[in-house]
Amino acid sequence: MQPFDPEQAITEARREFGEHGGVVPSIERSSTFTVMEPGEMPEIFAGKRSPDRGGSYLYSRHFNPTINVLDRYLAAMEGTEFAVSTASGMSAIVCALLQLCPHGGHIVSSNMIYGGTHALLNDMLPEMGIRTSFAPPDDLAAIERAIRPETKVLYVETLGNPTLVVADIPALAALAHERGIKLVVDNTFAPMIVPPARLGADVVVYSMTKYINGASDLIAGCICCTREFGHSLYDLHTGRVMLLGPTLDPRAAFDVMQRLPHLGLRMREHGRRALVIAQRLEQEGVAVIYPGLASHPGHEKFKAIANPVYGFGGMMTVDCGTAERANALLAVLQNEEQFGLIAVSLGYYDTLMSCSGSSTSSEIPAREQQAIGISPGLLRLSIGYTGSLESRLGQIVRAVAKAGLTRANG
Ligand SMILES: *Cc1c(COP(=O)(O)O)cnc(C)c1O
Repeated sequence: MQPFDPEQAITEARREFGEHGGVVPSIERSSTFTVMEPGEMPEIFAGKRSPDRGGSYLYSRHFNPTINVLDRYLAAMEGTEFAVSTASGMSAIVCALLQLCPHGGHIVSSNMIYGGTHALLNDMLPEMGIRTSFAPPDDLAAIERAIRPETKVLYVETLGNPTLVVADIPALAALAHERGIKLVVDNTFAPMIVPPARLGADVVVYSMTKYINGASDLIAGCICCTREFGHSLYDLHTGRVMLLGPTLDPRAAFDVMQRLPHLGLRMREHGRRALVIAQRLEQEGVAVIYPGLASHPGHEKFKAIANPVYGFGGMMTVDCGTAERANALLAVLQNEEQFGLIAVSLGYYDTLMSCSGSSTSSEIPAREQQAIGISPGLLRLSIGYTGSLESRLGQIVRAVAKAGLTRANG
């Protein structure tokens, strides 16, 4: 793979000035737009003209200037021709999948994915005539066996939530393309670190609610893709984004845009701190899972697909065995040590912590959870970057000792 610098790529995208030369872009809040020549209106509705093809804006569920600026920056970051931001990560995922997989179609999905996506594939889409087979993302033979003649999509997360299994994106892309199917990658856990589209993914989806926005103050998603696929999402007759209508608010688009310039700095710092903390916990004998540790089964694979300047990300898990022990650790971490907050979600500047099995993975049946390594005591941590690293280390080392999770205690 050629070296790719997503931060440089964003700066090379055409800069958008504010209406009066402002250093920040203006927010265009109009829902509808004045078409200067009446003859243009039918051409827009015939799909012959759009703002990126010499046409004017029409209506903000179709194209909006502020959202388009964000989309240009996201496409630059990802190295794709096009990006479509949406009102949530889930809407990005469902629109991309429904665009690629019609009624009667089949999806092969990693069995280690976000609980909401698991529910979408396992519980909701079958009602709409779309079936999914699940297989471990790191077992290529099992993935291949799951492919059927009607399979349209192979779906994986770069780092499986919450088990942090690493997807071998180049190998999965090669397999998908050999079988004439599209590879869709959810890269929510690893923006800038891993460039799925450059590794062969056809479509990259994000929950921008997490790292990309990074402030835990809005919900947003995006689809990074080819220009052709992006236009199909906006098609007036069959576009899943156009017709299901998960339009991002331009004010939220502006907020995300203002945080993209420091996404790289944030990812580096999340990764730097998470590595130090994971190494220390491992030394203490704690059952910690982190892709930056040599003990992680996907460590070498991750290094092969990641941009080394960003480290290994901010997500780790600690297996406390039982829910009682995990809850005891959570109570100490939040209420005694102020290490982090008991909350779902991730990518915030403060550390967020939750028990996956009973929260963001609870949509996955208990038996299946067990099979894929989600124990009731599996604690997921999204490591933040506030406070001094030294004091954070002191807090978590004291907490795991109090909870009886260290080698000396355990
Ligand atoms: C949170 C999350 C989603 C869903 O995103 P929303 O913005 O909450 O709709 C999808 N995939 C992963 C990996 C997530 O962590």
